[in-house]
Amino acid sequence: STAVWRAADTRHHLHPFTDFQGLAAEGGSRIITKAEGVWLEDSEGARILDGMSGLWCVNVGYGRERLAKAAYEQMLALPYYNTFFKTATPPSIELSEKLAALTPEGLSRVFYASSGSEANDTIARMVRRYWQLAGQPARRNIISRHNGYHGSTMAAASLGGMQPMHELDGLPLPGFHHVRQPYWFGEGGDMSPADFGIAAAKAIEDKILELGPETVAAFIGEPIQGAGGVIIPPESYWPEVQRICKAHDILLIADEVICGFGRTGHWFGSNLYDIKPDMMTLAKGITSGYLPLSAVMVGDRVADLLWSEGGEFAHGFTYSGHPVACAVALENIAIIEEEKLVERVHDDTGPYLQQQLASLAEHPLVGEVRGVGFIGAIELVTDKASRGRFNPKGRAGTLCRDHCVKIGVVSRAVGDTMVVAPPLTLTREEADELVKRLRLALDGAAADLNI
Ligand code: PLP
Repeated sequence: STAVWRAADTRHHLHPFTDFQGLAAEGGSRIITKAEGVWLEDSEGARILDGMSGLWCVNVGYGRERLAKAAYEQMLALPYYNTFFKTATPPSIELSEKLAALTPEGLSRVFYASSGSEANDTIARMVRRYWQLAGQPARRNIISRHNGYHGSTMAAASLGGMQPMHELDGLPLPGFHHVRQPYWFGEGGDMSPADFGIAAAKAIEDKILELGPETVAAFIGEPIQGAGGVIIPPESYWPEVQRICKAHDILLIADEVICGFGRTGHWFGSNLYDIKPDMMTLAKGITSGYLPLSAVMVGDRVADLLWSEGGEFAHGFTYSGHPVACAVALENIAIIEEEKLVERVHDDTGPYLQQQLASLAEHPLVGEVRGVGFIGAIELVTDKASRGRFNPKGRAGTLCRDHCVKIGVVSRAVGDTMVVAPPLTLTREEADELVKRLRLALDGAAADLNI
C-alpha cells in the first residue's frame, strides 16, 4: 500500500537531487505506478498530466507495446553481449548505421554508453586524446557555460556550470572552464537580444584568449540549455560561437541529450540552429527513456585520427552498445519516423503549444514565456516592468510547483522558472489541458504571494 511503500522509501531509498529531510517531513515520495500516453497514475489512483516527459525523455509517450516487444524479443535472442575487443551485436550495428544517417552530415561514427553523464565523460577523454594524437597535447582545456547541465559524474559535473554541484566537493576538475550563458531575459540588461547573443558568444573567445588558444581542446554546449531553465539563445549566438571555434581551431560539441530526437521540432537542436558540431552527445529520447542508453556521435575529423592512428582507445563501459537498449532505440526511432512526430511538433502541435503557452505571458506573475517546439519556460517575476526577482530565489517557483502537484500536472521549477517538455505525442486537446492546469497553478502561487 502507499503508506507501507512511503515508509520503506523514506527509510531506505536515497533519491537524486532531493532534500532528504524535506522528503521525510512531507511523509515520503509520490509513488508513480502506471502511465499511458501523456498521463501518469500514482499509487492512490490520481491521474497526472506529464508536462515533462519524465525527465525530458519519454518522447514517444508511455505504454508503447512495440518497445516492450522489441526488448522482450532481443532478450530472448541475446540479452547481453559486450562490444569490447572486436565484437558487436546486430542491434548495436544497425543503430550505429541509423544514427549516422539521422544526425548532421559528417557525424558518422558512434561510441555507446548508458547515460548522458557517461557520454559527456567520454567526450572529455576523447577530445584530449584527439589533440594528443594531433600533436598538440597542450590542448586540454574545455570550455562550457555557467548554468549548463551535462550530468553528475565528476567530469560531466565539471563540464556543467551548476554552482551547487561544484560546491558539493570542490569541482570543477582542473581544465574545465565556464563562461556566461546566452540568457537574455535574465542577463541581457538594456542590450538587444541580437547584441547580447554576440556578447555571450564573445565571452567564449575572451576565455580562449585568456587561456591561450593553443591550450583549448573544445567548447561544449546544449543547443538550448534545458535544466538551466530552457535558455533559448538569441539567433545571433550560435553562428558567432561557430565562427569563434573555427577561428581558433577548437572542437565544437553539441550536448543533444535533451534537444535530440524531435524535442525542438527538428531531429536535433543542431538542425534548428544550423550548428555543425564535431561531436554530439545523445541520450534520453534515443530510447524515449524506456531503457538507459547514450551515444557519442563522432565526426570524421576526430574519428579518422582516433581510430586510424590512435591504437587502442582505453575507454568503455560494460553496457556500451547493450543489445536490448539498442533494439529498443531502433524501434523508438521507427515510431518517431512512422508517426512523423518530428514533423508534427514542427508544423502543428509545437506551434500550437507555444501559442497557448504564450497566452500565459499576460498573467501578473509571468515575466517571459519562451520556447520552441515541445520545450518551453514560464519565468516568474515580482514585477513585469523591472523583471523583479523573488527573494529568496525559487520562492515563487516552489509554490507554483506545489500547486502543479495538487492540480495534477508535472512542470519542473528551475529557481523561479517553470519548465515544460511534454511527450511529442501530446495532442492539441492535451496541450489545452496542460496550459489550463499551468494557469491554475500560477493563480494559486500568485494568491499565496499576494500578487
Ligand atoms: N546533458 C544534458 C543536457 C542533460 O539534460 C542531462 C540530464 O538531464 C545530462 C547530460 C545527463 O544525462 P544523465 O542523467 O542520463 O546522466
